[in-house]
Amino acid sequence: MTTRPDVAIAGGGLAGLATAIGLARRQLRVVCIETAPWPRPAVGESLEFSAPRLLAELGVEQAADARRPHLFPKTSVRVVGGAGCDEEFTVWPPTWFSLPPIWCSRVAFHTDRTELDHLVLELAIDAGVEILPERVTTVETDDDCVEAVVTNGGSRVEAAWFVDASGHVGRLVARALELERELLGDPQAAYWARFDEAPDGHATGLYFPEPGHRDLTWAWEIPLNEQEVSVGVVMSAERLARFRAGGAQPREIFEDRLRAIPRLNHVIDGHPDVELHATSYTPYRHRRTIGPNWLLVGDASAMVDPLTSNGVTSALRHADQAARTISVALDRGRRRRDRWAYEHTAPAMVATLDRAMESFLYEPEVRRRLGLRWAVTLYAATGVITNSLYAKLRPTTVTRATACAAMLAVSRAWTRIARCVLVLVSRHVDRDSEPRPPAPRELEIAEAAAKGERVGVGG
Ligand SMILES: Cc1cc2nc3c(=O)[nH]c(=O)nc-3n(C[C@H](O)[C@H](O)[C@H](O)COP(=O)(O)OP(=O)(O)OC[C@H]3O[C@@H](n4cnc5c(N)ncnc54)[C@H](O)[C@@H]3O)c2cc1C
Repeated sequence: MTTRPDVAIAGGGLAGLATAIGLARRQLRVVCIETAPWPRPAVGESLEFSAPRLLAELGVEQAADARRPHLFPKTSVRVVGGAGCDEEFTVWPPTWFSLPPIWCSRVAFHTDRTELDHLVLELAIDAGVEILPERVTTVETDDDCVEAVVTNGGSRVEAAWFVDASGHVGRLVARALELERELLGDPQAAYWARFDEAPDGHATGLYFPEPGHRDLTWAWEIPLNEQEVSVGVVMSAERLARFRAGGAQPREIFEDRLRAIPRLNHVIDGHPDVELHATSYTPYRHRRTIGPNWLLVGDASAMVDPLTSNGVTSALRHADQAARTISVALDRGRRRRDRWAYEHTAPAMVATLDRAMESFLYEPEVRRRLGLRWAVTLYAATGVITNSLYAKLRPTTVTRATACAAMLAVSRAWTRIARCVLVLVSRHVDRDSEPRPPAPRELEIAEAAAKGERVGVGG
């Protein structure tokens, strides 16, 4: 069957649904094609300061009722470093950050993504979005244009505009058009689970059990409500592969990594049957994110490192701008400057924050030289200021978009200069310092793997 809406959206995650809502509220006919049934487990529960306002604009505040408290207060980020929790500190903007010229909001939230995504789905349906519960199997293109998308259910959707919201796994339009992708970091792997466990306060917990290790492993503990926490662990895909080569099963790896964090021991021990989820990703951005009749949003456009807590905000920002850009294009015809404005704001924001995260926290030389506290603080300050200024400038017109793009360029320049200085200083100082000790556990596993032996990684 062939349908001809104004806009077809591939993917009904947060970015796809938010874009669909923005378009439907502008009286456009929108079809959103989503393969996975709702409700479904989703990750991305710690939100940064711009999220509450963006969610309120979407109508989430008004729609949420007392039975579904979708937002849970986030009062700070508690960072714990070292296997024995040698170092613990709190990161939160000081009060003077809320004054001009930074004007940083100091209110943030955690969210239950399954609840939130479902709420946004209901808003989309209320706004008149047609949901097609099928999988896009083919994106038909002609030169640089998308002609139609075809689904596994035999539907063919032809539209004036196409939005790719299929996430970092799908990247449907980007693959079909062979768009160039710039990788912003190394491949990472994550395991996570929800635990029926009362949270210890209202802070996002970030754990770095081996802050001096070349590959940064980190874990999160996020309060979802009064009774549940989300706990996850992220490591480089290379490191995970070494564990797997040693014969370790996902659950063993998850537990082993969390065992290094004393506070989480009782959480693991108390819930042996918890459902474990896994994903892998590499932060990236596409060099082109908008074409003659297509546009990429959310993770399908650019994937920001989860440590930045910017994935949800990024999806909402993409959606807001994409809806505006498409409706203007349908109204007044395609204008090069509108396309320029899209390309250089929401997707560029992801690259800017990712570079800062890679430079200050993932870069081993810089992290070791600065120490965990300063590396985290340097990223946090850059991230908070960049996010706040972006939220104030808000690219709703081409002039405002130009101001945002300039601000992002300054932020990237600052990151580049700071990183160069720190690496140079670090190399200079390191010339006379001791060689770095090897990581004994990994060596043991790698050696065992080489001999074809299995090494258990459970407690
Ligand atoms: C480990 C981890 C931790 C994170 N933590 C945070 C955090 O604390 N805070 C934060 O803000 N962000 C976080 N994020 C990022 C956040 O989860 C994402 O940025 C956000 O959910 C992206 O939404 P999206 O709609 O772009 O993509 P997705 O949520 O991936 O949605 C894409 C949708 O497209 C659908 N789809 C794919 N292919 C097809 C197809 N062929 N046909 C039809 N449908 C298709 C999928 O089923 C999916 O529903 C984290 C990410 C990871 C990986």
